[in-house]
Amino acid sequence: MKQQSFIAKTPKHELEVEVLSKLVSRDVFDVKKEQFRKMCEDGCSNYGKKYSCPPFSPSFEKFQNSFENFLVVMYSINLNQLANFDYSDYQKLQIGNAVIKPRLEKYMRSLENKTNTQFFSTGACRLCKPCKGKLGEPCAKPNDKRYSLEASGVDCNKLAMDVFDRPLLWYKNKTAPEYTSVIAAIPVSETFSF
Ligand code: SF4
Repeated sequence: MKQQSFIAKTPKHELEVEVLSKLVSRDVFDVKKEQFRKMCEDGCSNYGKKYSCPPFSPSFEKFQNSFENFLVVMYSINLNQLANFDYSDYQKLQIGNAVIKPRLEKYMRSLENKTNTQFFSTGACRLCKPCKGKLGEPCAKPNDKRYSLEASGVDCNKLAMDVFDRPLLWYKNKTAPEYTSVIAAIPVSETFSF
């Protein structure tokens, strides 16, 4: 496993982001597509309204069968870095996620040039606001749209533990977790170096 960090600069902050990455075999992904699809259907108002989400997203098993090796990358940000600012816990979480999500997506997209494959992102596709699915129109950027691991049925909690021994933490009882993380993956060749 590789462990690095960088400083993310925003208009108001300079925040350290931890980067964990590891090459893994396809067996490490635990896919529960139907279970997650049902959870989305029951619990998300966006179900059927975003083209990157269930029921439109394919099962990760399709890619598991096509590729032997994957690079898994986690960006993590400790929210205690915002302790001296006058933010609510929810705002801290929002700031943390706003820092790491687009940066991880940009990094994964840059890897596509090296791998000739497509990455699996974190959360729904954010290329259009709103997603054209909400307007009943065709996807505006079908070649750039990417599916998330979770929308493809991957158990990301288990993945984070199995690969990095690092649990994903959640906002609970109006309290921000110690850190927030995002996780993504991309198929790579056996000889891929990063
Ligand atoms: S590219 Fe735009 S329309 Fe297509 S899935 Fe992404 S957000 Fe939706």
